[in-house]
Amino acid sequence: MKARIAALLLGLVLAGCTTTPTGRSQLMLVSPDSAVQASAEVYPKMLEKYARAGKLDNDPAQVRRVKEITARLVAEAIRDYPHTRNWKWQVVVIDEPETVNAWCMAGGKMAVYSGLLEKIRPTDDELAQVMAHEISHAVANHVAEQMSIQLASQLGLAVLSATALHDSRYRTAALTGAALAASLAIELPYSRKAEAEADRIGIELAAKAGYDPRAAVTLWQKMEQVGGNGTPEFLSTHPSPGNRQQTLKALVPQMMKYYDPQAPHPVYRGL
Ligand SMILES: [Zn+2]
Repeated sequence: MKARIAALLLGLVLAGCTTTPTGRSQLMLVSPDSAVQASAEVYPKMLEKYARAGKLDNDPAQVRRVKEITARLVAEAIRDYPHTRNWKWQVVVIDEPETVNAWCMAGGKMAVYSGLLEKIRPTDDELAQVMAHEISHAVANHVAEQMSIQLASQLGLAVLSATALHDSRYRTAALTGAALAASLAIELPYSRKAEAEADRIGIELAAKAGYDPRAAVTLWQKMEQVGGNGTPEFLSTHPSPGNRQQTLKALVPQMMKYYDPQAPHPVYRGL
């Protein structure tokens, strides 16, 4: 029996290996599709909670700015990563002036906190780097990867065995767990490898959408300076890969070929 479970798990694990856009292999217990599904379930519930507390999209100018920038990034993301074509991308501004954070769930469900806008005071180019970085975590399936780690530790691997996934009672349990993992995934730190990937993918997406690659360097400088009341949430969920600023700086020259602020930039409609 043990051997059978081990075999099933091995099959699941092998089936669950994918490769990121930068070529790293990922262990995937939660398939990217179920991550998208679980996020689609959790996101509206989170928004409802913030709306009830009067904390959702309160400043029309802030919301307009965030949506305009994000719409250009999403258009580029869909062009470069066609598997995201059918995602129902969304972005909101959560009114929490003390929270310096932003995130993107699997399936392109995003949020930025008013604290990031007010404390970091990002230029449009810098805000684009924030959102592009978040989008990159989602397109590179980092969220599903994070959920896999969560789910494995929460439920124990047995519940996730192939047999369990075909039994509707267990499937419901696994889905509930997945929904929980989807909300936890955005609260926990990404690995430094995932960070380096999101930095690399994000700076390119932003450049292609017409945002200055040099802003990636100044953004992280500002993030580090804002430490007054402790580490911003953004830095705890996005731990610094070694030499982040130097690595980004070194990427700038090769990104400049993508950067043409005067060119017309397509926008994603429907945010
Ligand atoms: Zn990150």
